[in-house]
Amino acid sequence: MAKRGKVLINVNDIIGKRLGKLEVISYAGNNYDMTLGGERMRHYYRVECECGTTKLVQRGQLTSEIVHSCGCGRRGRRGY
Ligand SMILES: [Zn+2]
Repeated sequence: MAKRGKVLINVNDIIGKRLGKLEVISYAGNNYDMTLGGERMRHYYRVECECGTTKLVQRGQLTSEIVHSCGCGRRGRRGY
């Protein structure tokens, strides 16, 4: 069985990177999300879209490219 433990990550490793339309500006902090059946640290980043919009996005959504714009580049889907 896989051990569950704290995963230490370098939260700064994606700062300055461009992911799709988004450029990662700064690390914005973290919080615990207990809604997914357990404690889970979530890291947030402030990103700037190429259209000029800034927003906060979860790290996981950035690194997995679930979110790669502020929403301006997508049609037919709401939210991100
Ligand atoms: Zn945009």
